Amino acid sequence: MKEKSMKKKPAKKEVECRCPYCEEDLILVGAPFCSACKMVIVRCTMCLTAITDKDAKTCSRCGEPLQQ
Ligand SMILES: [Zn+2]
Ligand SMILES: [Zn+2]
Repeated sequence: MKEKSMKKKPAKKEVECRCPYCEEDLILVGAPFCSACKMVIVRCTMCLTAITDKDAKTCSRCGEPLQQ
């Protein structure tokens, strides 16, 4: 008996504007810091992904060079 895998990947919701540190929704989209925990948030200018790795030179998602 073969077992068919019917597992579907759950549709991942795009994290649009959530603090990567405290998971709070960011009120100000594009704000350079989180209004809840005051952590500075570096964003990719292309896909707006929040970068948590401070040593990262490129976006982990689209590979765009990050501006500091
Ligand atoms: Zn936060
Ligand atoms: Zn990106």
